Amino acid sequence: MTTSIVQGPIVQGPIVQGPIVQGWCPGALRPMQSGDGLVVRIRPRAGRLTADQARGIARLARLHGSGLIDLSNRANVQLRGVTEASHPALIEGLRALDLIDTDAADEARRNIIVSPFWTEGDGTQEIALVLAKVLTSPEAPVLPGKFGYSIDLAKLSTLRTTSVDIRIEWHLSGWLVRGESFVTGAMVNTADAAASAVVELAEWFVANGGVEGGRGRMARLWQSESLNARHNRLPQRFQEGGAMSVFAQQPTPGTHTQGQLVGFEFGQMQAETLAALADLGPLRVTPWRMLLIEGATDAPQIPGLITRADDPMLRVIACTGAPGCLQAHAATRPLARALAAKLAAKLTETLHVSGCAKGCAHPGPAALTLTATPAGFALIRGGTASGTPARSGLSASDLTETLFRELP
Ligand code: SF4
Repeated sequence: MTTSIVQGPIVQGPIVQGPIVQGWCPGALRPMQSGDGLVVRIRPRAGRLTADQARGIARLARLHGSGLIDLSNRANVQLRGVTEASHPALIEGLRALDLIDTDAADEARRNIIVSPFWTEGDGTQEIALVLAKVLTSPEAPVLPGKFGYSIDLAKLSTLRTTSVDIRIEWHLSGWLVRGESFVTGAMVNTADAAASAVVELAEWFVANGGVEGGRGRMARLWQSESLNARHNRLPQRFQEGGAMSVFAQQPTPGTHTQGQLVGFEFGQMQAETLAALADLGPLRVTPWRMLLIEGATDAPQIPGLITRADDPMLRVIACTGAPGCLQAHAATRPLARALAAKLAAKLTETLHVSGCAKGCAHPGPAALTLTATPAGFALIRGGTASGTPARSGLSASDLTETLFRELP
């Protein structure tokens, strides 16, 4: 059966001076209009695509979209170039692959990022499935569209710098459920207990005024003393060290215990690449715009992958930019690509090129950010895309022909 599946508004808009903050993320059932068509965001269950699902997504991306596939910093998979006419058939295809929720509201609530370094039996998959069920039940608290969760049960946390609101982490004798930036949390040992502690924390967030105008983040409430006793456990590691241990930097491509981690230029690939990866095994999605090929022991020989940790393209982040994004003031990726080639080994920290001050591709600070404005690029050191520029009015050709010598 084919039905009209687009739920909620498809946002359209002209190129504007200031970025439009939507306050919600696109989904599959609630896609977002972009300069190259609808962006349809798929949320893989428990952060994993079976080989059949990945192959199916690749086929549907070619059939109903432009064939371009993005990986998002929310560990989701986005199909680009979908049209309003092709969207219903795409949703039916994705539903057959068990990748579609009951409705757009359930889809928006299932905002769970899973560490790709989980191991069989460590509780990650079980918690992810129970949590998704609880969050989409009719009794679940109504939370802002961007409210999210991480499940990070490997002994070395890799999601600590990923923006979420409630974290479930490995912690000595069990799992710790805590709000973002909170130093106390609830210790739990079962998936059900973890999910119920998450819901309690989310209900507390709502009761304490965390939601304002449909928005709000947990970190803003971190100094509150009104948490109940269950969530006020001061874990041993905090007691010993005073603060959380320092954890690993963003993982790099290559061999890991769980498989091969591979990157993509700007986190984007063609459908053919995804289909070829699916032939190697199930895929775990990550918030670093990389995929982990489960169980693979050798670096895949597929064109278009980043497989080396020293590849300068790993340190360059660029959003869609013009013409793909309606809000962009300039193209971003050609400039980012050219600067990466010129700077090569000199580029040791993150360079972020943003089509506007919104900074979608990298909301946090970067060593160097180039933000497109109506009056050229602004150069920001150590800040975000909306930070105070050290220089402004720069053209892309100035940057690639002469100014690159003064960077980073
Ligand atoms: S940051 Fe880039 S992708 Fe985001 S709205 Fe601005 S131009 Fe578009």
